Amino acid sequence: MNASSTPTLCLADDALFEQHVSPPGHPERPQRLSAARQGVEACAEAARAVKLAPRDASADELARVHSAAYVEQLEQLSGKSGYLDADTFFTPRSVEAARRASGAALALADTLLDGKADFGFALLRPPGHHARPASGMGFCLLNHVAVAARHALARGARRVLILDWDVHHGNGTEEIFEDAPEVLYVSLHQSPQYPGTGAAADVGSGPGRGYTLNVPLAAGADNAVYAAAFERLILPVVEQFAPDFTLISAGYDAHRRDPLGGMELDADGYAWMTRRLLDVTRRGPGHRIGFLLEGGYDLVGVRESVQHTLGALFAEPPALEREPALGSQHEAELASAVRVQRQFWRL
Ligand SMILES: [Zn+2]
Repeated sequence: MNASSTPTLCLADDALFEQHVSPPGHPERPQRLSAARQGVEACAEAARAVKLAPRDASADELARVHSAAYVEQLEQLSGKSGYLDADTFFTPRSVEAARRASGAALALADTLLDGKADFGFALLRPPGHHARPASGMGFCLLNHVAVAARHALARGARRVLILDWDVHHGNGTEEIFEDAPEVLYVSLHQSPQYPGTGAAADVGSGPGRGYTLNVPLAAGADNAVYAAAFERLILPVVEQFAPDFTLISAGYDAHRRDPLGGMELDADGYAWMTRRLLDVTRRGPGHRIGFLLEGGYDLVGVRESVQHTLGALFAEPPALEREPALGSQHEAELASAVRVQRQFWRL
């Protein structure tokens, strides 16, 4: 790859993801995917993207992350409708869609690891980051980002970064990798908020201690708060971890328009985070980054944010307007997270 050539993008998507039909009034609905597709189409560079052929994740690939019993239980639900928990629905083609979504994440990872694209974006439904080793949860049936991360490790990646900027803590992803030092899980999320996990003091366990980085933030955090979290904490840790493969759990429910989240980010904030992450991770030779859609329930917010994320891969976004000072609560939360992580990283 010539350093001066335009970066290449690959896109994973599948008509099957719309067949995960939601109950009336449920926020995790197929229209979210249409909004994300519009965001892709509004990014001029994305028009030249490589479209990936979808495939299904195999039972073995899923079993790297989920218990065989849970994978089997899901198979039994294929063709049926119901709920795994109070808000995690399934309809006749949901299991098929979830399996294809994990397969799309795998196809994305393979394309990036083969050096056939610099960046990738997967438009997936159902989302994945709440799915636990042995159960679905929070609209999620299978944990696609975890499946892709394990796959990258199986293919020889040594250090995988998962950055999760969905407004909700990715409890499933954290649980799957809590004792794994080869995966750095970083989450910025609203707290208090569903699912209630993700305290700054939760840093991983056993050999994975220090490889979970939680940044819980009170409602109202805006671009400036997220930027401060990046500059003071997340980017220095990512730089020291030096990932050779990066996956983003790209939820867009921290957008200010989102009906479930209470944050104040806008599309410029997502562009800025994307660009800064590129600045730090792309110092390594041939470093590739894959984005996987998670939550995001306002259609305008999803469309704009996807467009700005992709746009930032190709061009420097405008500088953020910096607030003169952050609120005292957000300052205290960031200071607390920095204090915790100083046990493990130079900050
Ligand atoms: Zn979410």
